[in-house]
Amino acid sequence: MEPGDGRPFETVTLYGVPFAKMDMRRTVEYLTRAVETRRPHRVVTANPIMVMAALRDPAFLWAIATADLVVPDGTGIVWAARRAGQPLPERVAGYDLMHELLKVGDSRGWRVYLLGAAQDVAEAAAANLARRYPGVHIAGWRNGYFSDEDDDAVVEEIRRAAPDLLFVARSLAKQEPWLARHGERLGVPVMMGVGGSFDVVAGKLKRAPAAFRRLGLEWLFRLLQEPRRIGRMAVLPVFALKVLRDGEKALRYPKPGGDDRQL
Ligand code: UDP
Repeated sequence: MEPGDGRPFETVTLYGVPFAKMDMRRTVEYLTRAVETRRPHRVVTANPIMVMAALRDPAFLWAIATADLVVPDGTGIVWAARRAGQPLPERVAGYDLMHELLKVGDSRGWRVYLLGAAQDVAEAAAANLARRYPGVHIAGWRNGYFSDEDDDAVVEEIRRAAPDLLFVARSLAKQEPWLARHGERLGVPVMMGVGGSFDVVAGKLKRAPAAFRRLGLEWLFRLLQEPRRIGRMAVLPVFALKVLRDGEKALRYPKPGGDDRQL
């Protein structure tokens, strides 16, 4: 069985990453049920940078492909699925999904734990979310700069806080493998990596204005705000060319050492 099979919703698998064929509304409903039934779900919001990283690194592919739910966070993913002949309903941006879940949590008194970013950022993000969603109970927060030796203590702290939602805002390279390793022990109904979202919630970085998002240019806004991202973003045109070249071959699971991994 390949990762992607056996999920209670349809998926479109791009280079081995099984994206859920659900729009934002259905995604939120699905995860609301996860909280209600207390069934742990590891959620990955995957973008083209992550898919490219997964093609280079089978361990990273495994960390994201074995998630319970992978949502298409990025216009590039929606475009690629259409090119491959298996369209996805819409982009489900991680930042928006986080807020949609918090909105539901606001009316249902859910507990939320924030893990990641610098200490002052995590603290400001917690304070801002508490103000914006007074019905949400902030069950705890902790910065994302800790070593592997601290993992057990961090997992214990989160288990004791018993959140309904756990948002992890460490770098992409760290947050997904960390959740893949510890998700089962954490046992939180919704566990989701949210990248740089705490920096936006804390007011340290700005989200791209709607016009940029509509035009699929969120990446450009982020680049203008944080030019150090240029190295990471260099893979975006490589991804686009690969999708154009591969056509429906993009839907195949990449074989270890096989041609599909060639970039
Ligand atoms: N971050 C963290 N621990 C780390 C590395 C990064 O908590 O070891 C936080 C960082 O402070 C920021 C977020 O993760 O709030 C996203 O970081 P970055 O933009 O470098 O990563 P990306 O999401 O682009 O991979």
